[in-house]
Amino acid sequence: MNNSTPAKQQICPICDNAVQPMPRYPRYVCAACVALATDQHGRGVQFFNTGLMGTGCAGSYRADQAAYPSDQCWINGQRCCAKEARFGGIVIEVVDDE
Ligand SMILES: [Zn+2]
Repeated sequence: MNNSTPAKQQICPICDNAVQPMPRYPRYVCAACVALATDQHGRGVQFFNTGLMGTGCAGSYRADQAAYPSDQCWINGQRCCAKEARFGGIVIEVVDDE
């Protein structure tokens, strides 16, 4: 827990647009950039909850809804990871490449 530096402002790490601050997800990607997510080969992918209560996280290809068996995606050349959000829905965060 770190409450000493409240995040009053937060930007999307991909496009630098202001996003709603979510201290829990400091590097989450804005909705406009999420719409650009692709697999490693440039095919558009999307992520969604698998449970009715907003739990679970699964991916599919946009083009044909085929299952995309990964939680990783690429946006603007940056590797990102999709995960189930704490209060439902999906968050995609940029992953730092080592
Ligand atoms: Zn963005």
